[in-house]
This record gives sequence, structure tokens and C-alpha cells, in this order.
Amino acid sequence: MRVAVVGVQGDVEEHLAITKKALDDLGIDGKVVAVRKPGLVSGCDAVIIPGGESTTISKLIWKDSIASEIIELADSGHPIMGTCAGLIIISKHGDEQVRKTETKLLGLLDVRVRRNAFGRQRESFEAPLKFDEVGEYNAVFIRAPVIDEVGSNVRVLARFEDKVVAAREKNILGLSFHPELTNDTRIHRYFLTMV
Ligand code: GLN
Repeated sequence: MRVAVVGVQGDVEEHLAITKKALDDLGIDGKVVAVRKPGLVSGCDAVIIPGGESTTISKLIWKDSIASEIIELADSGHPIMGTCAGLIIISKHGDEQVRKTETKLLGLLDVRVRRNAFGRQRESFEAPLKFDEVGEYNAVFIRAPVIDEVGSNVRVLARFEDKVVAAREKNILGLSFHPELTNDTRIHRYFLTMV
């Protein structure tokens, strides 16, 4: 199995490391590669878009064909996971901030996201979640977005308080938080078994 981590900006190294660890935990012989240029995504079985700064990541992947390569891979049924800024990027609809910054989204997950939804008082925090099919999970949130609306084919996997923080639509998985910043590989394992 070959897994791509979009490597243009953000928590790239952390995703590379935990994805490798998750493959090892699953006993899968696989390779994890950072993608910073066009022509690499199509040879992969799955793609992860990390957290970082969504406007920057978006600009860099649309600058060349990385964005359209991800869309093509998603359309052929391969799993795509977006975490934090990555969630914003894979979403279909954004909020006022997304519109104002002209952040172009991939439109893979039929949800409406809200950037920096927890405001300044709560820039980063950890919280225990009940994650569907994974179980109790301690999630790390950093200037996190939330999902305000979900389309009819989208399954909510986790909430924090009343807010949707994890959702899946067929092969597309979106998380508000950072599964790469823990030693717990369960979310990455869940994603890899979607392949
Ligand atoms: N606040 C960032 C954004 O909206 C996302 C934060 C993150 O990925 N840790 O782009």
C-alpha cells in the first residue's frame, strides 16, 4: 500500500510518522510519501491532507495539478482524509472566512465548515470523544474548524459538545482535530482499513 501525505505546508512529518506506525501496527507492508509536486498522487492508494493553514495549503495544491489529482483519486473510490485545515480543504462549503480569503475547496465531503470555530479563549485543547467505530478517543484541537451542516450521505462519527468534529462520506473522512499529534494510531488505522 502506498499512502500520500500532502506535504506543501503544515503537520507533514507527524502524519508521515504516525501513518507508518499505523501500517506497522496493522501488519501492512506499505510506504508513506510526502507529496509536494504533481504526478505522484495517482500512484497512491490513499491521501492525507494535514492540518496547517488552509488558505496556504489550498493555494499551493491548486497552483499545479495536485488538487485535481486528489479529486481524481477520490472519484475512483480511494480514501482521502483531511485533518483540521485538511478538513476545510476537502469540504464542499466554507464560511465567511473561507469566502473572504478566496480559499478554493476540493468539494469532496458534503459539509459546511467553519474556520477557527472555538475562538481565541479556546485556541487549543484536548478533549475525550466518543468516536464511532473507534471508541473513546482523546482528541487534540488547535484553532480547529467545526462542521456546521452535513449532507444526507454524510455520517457523523464524533461530536464535541454539540459540534460535529468528525464525519465520513463513503471514502472521504474529515476531522476537526489532529490525530497525528498523539501516539494513538487508531484513527489512522481506521482510515487505512478504508483502503
Ligand atoms: N485555523 C487553521 C485554518 O483555518 C487550521 C488550524 C490547524 O490546521 N491546526 O486554516
